Amino acid sequence: MLGQMMNRPLLISMIARHALKWHGRREIVSITADQPRHRYTYAEAFARAKKLSNVLVKAGMGRGDRIATLAWNDFRHFEIYYGVSCAGFVCHTINPRLFEDQIVYIVNHAEDRWLFLDPAFVPLIEKVQERLKKVERYVVLTDDAHMPATTLPNAVSYEALIANESAQCEWPEFDENTASSLCYTSGTTGDPKGVMYSHRSTVLHSLGSALPDAEDLSNNDTVLAVVPMFHVNAWGLPYTGPMVGAKLVFPGPKMGDPEALCDLIENEGVNFAAAVPTVWQGMVAYLEKSGKRPGKLQRVLSGGSAVPVALMDQLRDKYGVEVMHAWGMTENSPIGSVCSFSPEANALPREQRDALRAKQGRCVFGVEMKIVDDNDDELPHDGKAFGALKIRGPWVASSYYKREDSTAFDANGWFGTGDVATIDPLGYMQITDRTKDVIKSGGEWISSIELENLAVSHPAVAQAAVISVAHPKWQERPLLIVVPKPNQSVTREELLSFYVGKVAKWWIPDDVVFVDKLPLTATGKLSKLQLRQQFKDYRLPESQ
Ligand code: AMP
Repeated sequence: MLGQMMNRPLLISMIARHALKWHGRREIVSITADQPRHRYTYAEAFARAKKLSNVLVKAGMGRGDRIATLAWNDFRHFEIYYGVSCAGFVCHTINPRLFEDQIVYIVNHAEDRWLFLDPAFVPLIEKVQERLKKVERYVVLTDDAHMPATTLPNAVSYEALIANESAQCEWPEFDENTASSLCYTSGTTGDPKGVMYSHRSTVLHSLGSALPDAEDLSNNDTVLAVVPMFHVNAWGLPYTGPMVGAKLVFPGPKMGDPEALCDLIENEGVNFAAAVPTVWQGMVAYLEKSGKRPGKLQRVLSGGSAVPVALMDQLRDKYGVEVMHAWGMTENSPIGSVCSFSPEANALPREQRDALRAKQGRCVFGVEMKIVDDNDDELPHDGKAFGALKIRGPWVASSYYKREDSTAFDANGWFGTGDVATIDPLGYMQITDRTKDVIKSGGEWISSIELENLAVSHPAVAQAAVISVAHPKWQERPLLIVVPKPNQSVTREELLSFYVGKVAKWWIPDDVVFVDKLPLTATGKLSKLQLRQQFKDYRLPESQ
């Protein structure tokens, strides 16, 4: 027997309609290249998104056609999210920090028909335009007054494109499993892989991530989305925000500028922000130097890479800002777990509770999670056993776009994340490594992330990375690579003895190398691949 409930499709237009009707007055504030502080309401945003839908329909776009963006976080990008997806087309966000060849590959693989780009990226696309096979039209995200001179064929400013269009548009209804947006993950090897989100997965992910033990968002919140809209849909915030009616604040090209971020936080009343740990590191350094305070900021969601506890302590103890550690990935829309406190965790002594914050947290409803050994057998939740992390759920990818060769999706319907993790008896998951970064010393695993976290808790260390280097007896041993804080000095011996008593003796790195900076990937994460290449001929002192 079937239930007798309405079978309304879960479409992104449902979020838009709700926000338009019930949160129409709520503001969206942006910095853009042409406007230092643009502000308008959801009502105005969705009216303009409808104009864009009309433009695209008249231009002959068909259901499922891909339309690309190469853009910062701002109101125009927000309009494209809705104007494209709600009309039944696919919004393909591209990371401008990728290598040129990767961008060319991605645009061609997705067969993007139009490309919307920020003025800042015009020179980049001009260089590769002849290789972009299917792009028919380039739309520069500005107005005619700020339109750069360009050799891009058929280029038009966004404002001119939508200016004379009607804002009357009934977004169509279709199957909730219809594709809505596309994001490529830039793996460290091989071609980037596309994750094709659906309307259903997007709506469910927004619901799941708004829950109290996840982001805990409501229409009383003012949300600063520093996480880029070109990478996993800014962790879903452009959808979750309108769903709950939160005020949205977008930093545009200023996402790496702590002074501008601080200004937005203070003047727009931001109380919730989301960004990767390097942003928070920059923010703390700026606050320390300027003596400023982070306004009403209460909670920050940090993910993408592990957040050092020392950084969380500093933000909480000095600035009253609670960092919520989260884990996710492109294939998971991205939110998978958030480190919120359960009653059992709250009952722990303060020191243990504080230490728990280093973990990536507990599963958000909607995601199922397990750790397995090499035989795919599930490992216990004892906080010690570490194994490959697998997930499944309605907002987890079931395959990569136009690629059937991936081994990440198993026959039982689970996705292998490529992460290695432990899960403790209270259900807190901790990432100990990427599968390919884990250090195997004499067959036993050493967590590079744990060694890095400890290194950055040393007062003289700004950044740290631990990679494996070849060893004649143990096959692999850890090498610690450190960027010291400015005007601070620390020795190899001091750092190595800092580990004593904190980890097993055989985990302590064999050597330390000091560098000025660490290489980063296109998504701002530490590039261990580059580091391993840089140190591939490195010989440990005893093995020389
Ligand atoms: P991406 O798909 O580019 O967003 O990258 C996802 C990967 O980033 C995950 O598989 C993890 O390896 C890593 N990651 C995400 N969040 C965290 C976190 N909180 N701590 C450690 N690693 C993380």
